[in-house]
Amino acid sequence: MLDESEKERWTRRGFLGASSAALAAGMLAANHTAGQSQDPARKAKSERSRSEPVPKNPALDEENLDSVNPPPTDAGGVQTFKYPFSIAHKRLHEGGWSREVTVRELAVAKTLAGVNMRLTAGGVRELHWHTAAEWAYMLYGTARITCIDADGKSFVTDVKEGDLWYFPPGIPHSIQGLPPDGTEFLLVFDDGNFSEYETVLLSDWMAHTPQDIVSRNFVVPRAAVEVMPNKERFIFQAEVPGPLAEDQRRAAGALGASPIDFAFRTMQQPPTKRTKGGEVRIIDSSNFKIAQNIAASLVTLKPGGLRELHWHPNADEWQFFISGKGRMTVFATGGRARTMDFETGDVGYVQKALPHYVENTGSHDLKFLEMFKSSYYQDLALSEWLSHTPPELVAAHLNLDKATLEALPRAKPVILPE
Ligand code: MN
Ligand code: MN
Repeated sequence: MLDESEKERWTRRGFLGASSAALAAGMLAANHTAGQSQDPARKAKSERSRSEPVPKNPALDEENLDSVNPPPTDAGGVQTFKYPFSIAHKRLHEGGWSREVTVRELAVAKTLAGVNMRLTAGGVRELHWHTAAEWAYMLYGTARITCIDADGKSFVTDVKEGDLWYFPPGIPHSIQGLPPDGTEFLLVFDDGNFSEYETVLLSDWMAHTPQDIVSRNFVVPRAAVEVMPNKERFIFQAEVPGPLAEDQRRAAGALGASPIDFAFRTMQQPPTKRTKGGEVRIIDSSNFKIAQNIAASLVTLKPGGLRELHWHPNADEWQFFISGKGRMTVFATGGRARTMDFETGDVGYVQKALPHYVENTGSHDLKFLEMFKSSYYQDLALSEWLSHTPPELVAAHLNLDKATLEALPRAKPVILPE
């Protein structure tokens, strides 16, 4: 059901044509107080024009209030910038599942793609690599990750909720769920065209290499390699691994462990910025050295919090909504703008340098990731632009009076209220 702030958003715009009876009842109750400041004639016209007499999909309508009933500032055709993981194909295996949102699902998302994956305790995403860089955020549980660096030295560690990892292109790696209940995580790749179906898998490679070559390569009798699977495993159920220190010791061998840390303990770092409205953590190659191709910002907006009007001069933004409810308007130039609603599991996207804001529209914290194909995080805010431009020049553009200009935040708040 709609919470109070959502009801307000429906009724503020005078929308009456609900497609579900329950929704209509809720809105009529709230409508009494909303929209009273509007001109009555305009309001009547607005209600008649916005009505939608034929029922659609009430559950989807409730989740997409700003599409069903756009704010009056929205205009023109703006390419869709939302895709929910909920409607992505789920590839189910014994041991877990995966689903992806790429440029094939979300056409505007050309620079980055994402995968949502679940592994049971013991479930393995098999040893593999790919031509894209992989950045990951742990959504749930615990996992053991392995890789070797470019010198062949091993890296093995355990990660928990909130932790990250990064594997550069061509670096072979694996992920395994740990007890008690495995893991769920988000992967982000620096290529919108990436596909989980097209990675270099150990089992797939061996199944497509002549067995006499494999036996000569391993210097073992052919019978010893004939037991290998004849097709890829991708995700499979295995026994839960033993103690971490033992896995690290055996993987390191005589070469020793890699000096590179491929994991990042996000919550061990203080927030980059904290205000009354929420907090932000920026993770890029300045504090997570190995992450050369992907930069990230983890944002928490409290109820009523606003990620201020801003843009990113250096890269497109790929978003993943971890929890809560929010909305974002993207101003797409030439008089075009669109507002869309987001909640847990949704992917959002903003093309390079297009202005946008994100608002918490729910009654709980809104937590989301901003991802960029870049070694560094960069943004510029409307407030810092206008407060660092000659005031008379700004006033001449927007008819703002001196008191308003002087009240603008000088230091970029990032999240409001400050
Ligand atoms: Mn991978
Ligand atoms: Mn942004």
